[in-house]
Amino acid sequence: MKNPKSISVRQKFIASAKNSKILTRKCKDCSTIMLATILYCEKCHGKNFNIIEYPGSGYVTTFTIHTVPPEGFEDVDSYAWVVFTLDDILVRASGFLPNIKKPSDLPIGSKVNVQGFDEKHGLVLKKL
Ligand SMILES: [Zn+2]
Repeated sequence: MKNPKSISVRQKFIASAKNSKILTRKCKDCSTIMLATILYCEKCHGKNFNIIEYPGSGYVTTFTIHTVPPEGFEDVDSYAWVVFTLDDILVRASGFLPNIKKPSDLPIGSKVNVQGFDEKHGLVLKKL
């Protein structure tokens, strides 16, 4: 049995991503902010949170380039799996950025924005 509460948080996270937003949780005990998909506080293991939505814009922290696209993205030649840092809260997230062929296509620090969510692969990004 899946926990219905965790499903609804995931659904909200996806709905936010489709609006170019990132849903986060702020721990009521230690004020740590993390992605809403994380169930327990990363720092103090608390589970009392305020849910806060932030703009899904950030900058590239690191990435790897893949030349074989994953299932569901067969029309994409190559892509980058990107770790990015959100501008407003300095929280890291990762996502899928299509049509990146070589490292010079995506200098570290490039601006990216959340564009949507893929059920299999997670956040879908766009380079700004
Ligand atoms: Zn905490």
